[in-house]
Amino acid sequence: MKYLPNVMTPGPVNVAENVRKAMAEPSTNPDLDPDFFEFYKSVCSSAKELFNTKNDVIILSGEGILGLEAACATLTEPGDKVLCIENGIFGKGFGDFSKLYGGNVVYFTGDYRKPINPDELKAFLEKDSSFKYATVVHCETPSGFLNPIDKICPILKSYGILTVVDAVSSLGGEEVLTDQWGIDILLCGSQKCISAPPGLSLVSISSDTYTAIDKRVVPIAGFYTNLNTFRNWYSNKCFPYTQPANDIAALSVALNNLIEDKNAIERHRKLGSAVRKSIIASGLELYPISGFADTVTSVIMPKELSFESLFSQMLLEHSILIGGGFDFLEGKVFRIGHMGENCREDKLFITLKALDSVLSKNGVELKSRLHTTFAESI
Ligand SMILES: *Cc1c(COP(=O)(O)O)cnc(C)c1O
Repeated sequence: MKYLPNVMTPGPVNVAENVRKAMAEPSTNPDLDPDFFEFYKSVCSSAKELFNTKNDVIILSGEGILGLEAACATLTEPGDKVLCIENGIFGKGFGDFSKLYGGNVVYFTGDYRKPINPDELKAFLEKDSSFKYATVVHCETPSGFLNPIDKICPILKSYGILTVVDAVSSLGGEEVLTDQWGIDILLCGSQKCISAPPGLSLVSISSDTYTAIDKRVVPIAGFYTNLNTFRNWYSNKCFPYTQPANDIAALSVALNNLIEDKNAIERHRKLGSAVRKSIIASGLELYPISGFADTVTSVIMPKELSFESLFSQMLLEHSILIGGGFDFLEGKVFRIGHMGENCREDKLFITLKALDSVLSKNGVELKSRLHTTFAESI
């Protein structure tokens, strides 16, 4: 039998056994069974705990990108001015979704190797702040840094701008205080830190968002992307479409795994930092200059080999899947996802040991052993 690879990519990640088993449990008709509404409510409550919010949280049946598109579809009326705060691939891509729904998108572009500077954003908004909403990514997964949404969102709110945050690859591994920071729509996916199989988006919706929806003149251009269709689902005991009961059963277990692990954020901090120390000590270069994320590490490809070659040697010789770069980072970086179930000492140790072996074999002179520094840094 072929071994399944150890999925050390920045999402999808390894899925725990109790989550996988939950998917195979017998399920009910989610449209009709009164118990399912209670169960769904309890899953939303777990998600709220993780989001640190009292706002509604809904679960969309589609991979994380659905949430990004749905936020833009729900808020954008043709001609609306939208601020796209961007310093990476996902941040910039948000603007495309706003444009699809007729948004008049203005970009605030930061340094692509550093987090957004909140003072520069403030200076920008002093000149022009007539935006209906702004989009920003918390963890720029391809680059491996975090944007300071704790500072960015309160600034935007002080100008009356709605805030849409993509926390797909940070939530669960980094602190996210949705209500305290003034996040109107927070977006997350099942397959990153939450460590459930891909296929679901989690979305929190503030009362300011509902107010903006109610003020719309033009109806939302979409049904599946309309966040308002879930409004009052519990009192009406009605979902807009059949819920993927088995996916949600798995999500429920994955959320509880994270909630029960009171040290989850500390574990990400400790192991994320140890991975970076091992990379730096070896003489390899991190892609970000500052603002390092604890859920993913993005490393500049050494010149001695190509990413394709590194990827296939890691997979064929060590049965480990690592991530690469895409878009402007294609072939330029390799990435290790240390989020959720991947954020474990043993998994990271064997990944770094394999990486050390493959790089060395290909003529990359490492100043120290990756796995040894990692182990010493914990
Ligand atoms: C993974 C991810 C998404 C979802 O996108 P896919 O590429 O389809 O997995 C959205 N935003 C961020 C920041 C992500 O890391």
